[in-house]
Amino acid sequence: METITRKSLIYKSGLGFYCLNHVQGCSHGCRYPCYAFSMARQYGRASGENEWRQPKLVANAIELLNKELPRLRAKAASSRLEEFRIHLCLTTDPFMYGWPEIQAMTMRILEQINAFGLVCDVLTKGVLPHELTGHAFSRENHYGISCISLDEGFRQRFEPGAAPYADRITALRYLHDHGLRTYAHIEPYPTPNIIQQDFEALLKAMDFVDSLYFSGWNYSPLAAKYPDRKEFYAGLEQKVRTFCSANKIDCEI
Ligand code: SF4
Repeated sequence: METITRKSLIYKSGLGFYCLNHVQGCSHGCRYPCYAFSMARQYGRASGENEWRQPKLVANAIELLNKELPRLRAKAASSRLEEFRIHLCLTTDPFMYGWPEIQAMTMRILEQINAFGLVCDVLTKGVLPHELTGHAFSRENHYGISCISLDEGFRQRFEPGAAPYADRITALRYLHDHGLRTYAHIEPYPTPNIIQQDFEALLKAMDFVDSLYFSGWNYSPLAAKYPDRKEFYAGLEQKVRTFCSANKIDCEI
């Protein structure tokens, strides 16, 4: 696969947490649209969707980590470790479906970060590997999936390159069953004019997670067209709260 080099890797995002992106581009090609793609196009890092969907691996990622992690670890020593949790990724997907080179690099990065005594938060629309339960990885890492439907026809329309929903959920459940902390993002949830679906069935499929984040579909003109959008999301938020409370799941709305 194509590679690029970068001058630095770990940064503090505008959202207030540390993160890193060891790939430029993402083959999942989400059509919500993808905010990372919009930014990449605006700043000249991708000319269009075709280029965006051809990911480029940051070839010097491990080298950069070796320089940056000691500094971050030193800072973390005088603070709460949780404040230095590193999120993978904000502008790409760490377990990009069908890209073993990216998945292998992500495993090396996680191992490296954990070896420095720091912990990670991993969010994907790919398949989380069983190997994450191994001794090389911290039991304090958090693992999550984004999952807004169980309908494969919908996935092929809006997340064409991402992993099938059932595979994402099965892999996440495996990590949960092996004692790791897991979470799910139901976001951006589609309005009924985009797809009519059984919301309860979607919640039920993820009833094992430790925390659940729900949010509506904010960037789509299609969702904006739905006349009862506000009431629709208010109703779902209430369902999420009730579901989380009944299943002892931390709820973020
Ligand atoms: S997985 Fe994330 S980064 Fe990749 S295309 Fe979808 S929204 Fe964009």
